[in-house]
Amino acid sequence: MSNFNFDVITLFPKAFELINNLGVITRALDKNIIKVNLHDLRQYGEGAYRQVDDKPYGGGSGMVLKPEPIYKAHDSINKLPNSRTLLMTPQGKVLKQEDLLRWTAFDQLVIICGQYEGFDERIRFLADEEISIGDYVLSGGEIPAISIINGLTRLLPGTLGNSVSLQDESHNNSLLEYPHYTRPQIFRDMKVPDVLINGNHKEIELWRKDQMLERTFKRRKDLIQTENIIQSEENNVE
Ligand code: SAH
Repeated sequence: MSNFNFDVITLFPKAFELINNLGVITRALDKNIIKVNLHDLRQYGEGAYRQVDDKPYGGGSGMVLKPEPIYKAHDSINKLPNSRTLLMTPQGKVLKQEDLLRWTAFDQLVIICGQYEGFDERIRFLADEEISIGDYVLSGGEIPAISIINGLTRLLPGTLGNSVSLQDESHNNSLLEYPHYTRPQIFRDMKVPDVLINGNHKEIELWRKDQMLERTFKRRKDLIQTENIIQSEENNVE
């Protein structure tokens, strides 16, 4: 079974306990599809107090992560030949589904989580890529790192029972997914569309394709580019 390695440098390794309670992601851990190695930044801190942060040069509020502990932690990680280092920062490239897909080709992601006011600028040189999970600021890089671990793991073979479900999914063709319904047929006067009940697979497929375009157009016009629509048409012709 393929084994994808995540090595995370963090001041808060306990935050990653969430991964042990995340359904399919936890099963991927149990099945050895992924391995998550946590590197506690505190262990690489300096002096008796294991200091990892300091005041910013030039003044200003907040504390900044020092370069030495993060470099030491990064050096201590056994890098596989096909490895990539990501730095979590709201100043990075905004994460897209295509990035998660692209990283599945690697064997290892080393993820550096910032904290406090951020990190010393020289830490950027460790990173192959700087990644933001959106245009907002969180208190640390742990939730961004868990998002990446989660999103990438569900793309790995063996994690999800049905890999076909990945094909139509939102953001795969830069289109949002069609609406889903399950039983009961009528719930509080809200009815499942007839087309889904009549068993005509061709019609269902057309309806879903239509819904994907309509949804994306209504909710996320910014995602629609002609080339994506052509691509989605091609994917649907088999
Ligand atoms: N002062 C910094 C923000 C620090 S937030 C600035 O203005 O750029 C503290 C840490 O949380 C960051 O170093 C980063 O690791 C993480 N973080 C916060 N928001 C994030 C986001 N949107 N994406 C990825 N990491 C983020």
